[in-house]
Amino acid sequence: MDIIIRNARVLSMDDEAPRAQAVAIAGNRIAAVGSDAEIAALATPSTRIIDAGGATVMPGFNEAHMHIFGGSVALNELSLFGVKGFDDLSAAIRAYAAANPHLELLVGQSVDYTVLSEEERVTRHHLDRIIPDRPFMMVAPDRHTAWANTIALEKAGILHGRDVGVGNEIVMGDDGLANGELRESNAMRPVAIMSATGGREGLGVGTGGEPENVTAAERAGDIAVLKQGLAYCASLGITSFQNMDGNLYQLELLKEIEDTEGLPARVRMPFHMKNFMPLTDLEEKAAAWRDRFNSDKLRCNFVKVFMDGVTEGETAVFVDDYAHKPGWKGEPLFSAEHFNQVAVEADRLGLPVAVHAIGDGAVRMVLDGYEAAIKANGKRDSRNRVEHIEVVHPDDIPRFAELGTIASMQPTHPPGSAGLPLEPYLTYIGEERWPYAFAWKTLVDAGARVVFATDWPVSPLPPLSCIHDAMTRKPWRDDMPDHRLTLDETLKAYTRTSAWVEFMEDRKGILKPGYLADVVVLSGDIEACAAEEIAALAPKFTICDGRITYEAA
Ligand SMILES: [Zn+2]
Repeated sequence: MDIIIRNARVLSMDDEAPRAQAVAIAGNRIAAVGSDAEIAALATPSTRIIDAGGATVMPGFNEAHMHIFGGSVALNELSLFGVKGFDDLSAAIRAYAAANPHLELLVGQSVDYTVLSEEERVTRHHLDRIIPDRPFMMVAPDRHTAWANTIALEKAGILHGRDVGVGNEIVMGDDGLANGELRESNAMRPVAIMSATGGREGLGVGTGGEPENVTAAERAGDIAVLKQGLAYCASLGITSFQNMDGNLYQLELLKEIEDTEGLPARVRMPFHMKNFMPLTDLEEKAAAWRDRFNSDKLRCNFVKVFMDGVTEGETAVFVDDYAHKPGWKGEPLFSAEHFNQVAVEADRLGLPVAVHAIGDGAVRMVLDGYEAAIKANGKRDSRNRVEHIEVVHPDDIPRFAELGTIASMQPTHPPGSAGLPLEPYLTYIGEERWPYAFAWKTLVDAGARVVFATDWPVSPLPPLSCIHDAMTRKPWRDDMPDHRLTLDETLKAYTRTSAWVEFMEDRKGILKPGYLADVVVLSGDIEACAAEEIAALAPKFTICDGRITYEAA
């Protein structure tokens, strides 16, 4: 026996044997789960014995929606999370600039849309007052909007504007020049490519395309950055994650890490289908990559699509008008006919689809596409998903269970949670839609399968914080539905159900003999904690594939 974890409160997530005291691991598999006495009998002189000290031991977390490359890069950039007001913003940016004199582009992450105040949007003029002489760009937590100063816009060649395609916008000011706000990735890209990584981390989201002319040194730098991000995942108890952007470049870098020193977490990466790509790419690229990257450590077996943008950028698509802007519902990135073709063809090829859909109009279009696939190909076990579902139309709630569609949601995202401001979100969607916003409990009760994640680096990555947020959600108004979930519901959404979504429920997501040895040992007993205290727990050990990938100091 290689590893024995004893004196634990084991939450196996396996209905047949939900609780135990100890777990034994041999090679990359769970050998036994049982009482301390039963498991102690399996020890040999070379067994590593871990005393859990009465703490929870459970399947490693499976983060169902995140972005490894962007997240890894953001670890080294300026975090503006929680910064409020011009003076604080100014101090943070100036300190970062002083500490990084050689960066061609300074990047700030996770800045609130309302960083200045609830009334005033940021423009390049504010940023010029803070830093006039070096290119600077800061990105909203959702990464769908950025703001750049004048010198950055000038150097990027977009100060006089540019057509950046449907759903993207370089916002223009009254003076006929760009005002500094950049909506969606095509608009941000000309500035982002000036960064230390050349913006390569944004390609998987932005275009789904590949970087050109990458030097050996740049590639080695990208691998080093990814390793940093992977180690960070392991330190948070994550043993699997499902990436929600993709390109061949990232797959090849991850494959190289797997072949040289082993990936510390299992990665599932999609083929990213953009609206300008031919349908034949699904067979020629997506299906081909599925065959090429098909191990338990690194798999490429689904298709990611973006149907809309974000509410704060007025790029999310709603059934009815935005509350603050009559006549505007948002513009989808795919026509209904085009998306239905993608859904039908992916389904025909046996490729599950995961679609970013924030507004209820986008959610409806995605469900319509999945319904079209069933009509065209017959009902199969497709495990298609909708990502985010920030607002769902009441008529569409039962369709998740009917179509077998998975609701992939982020408990860290509701305005008011995890330090996020309430505005402009609440005003933009309007009070009538509040009861249907981030409605995960409603969807669970309607029979939908739900998986949870943070969308890192959109929100902070620690799963225990996200679990806390799912269990402590506060309503915006007293008569709104209570969306708090139980601990069991929440943990399943982070382990068992997320493994099922990947078609790996026969190998991971529960602790059971024969299953892959993906385990996290926490610092305390999660069941004995009040919901408010869960975020204060931390992993003590993370084990992935039978290997200890993180050990608390
Ligand atoms: Zn995402």
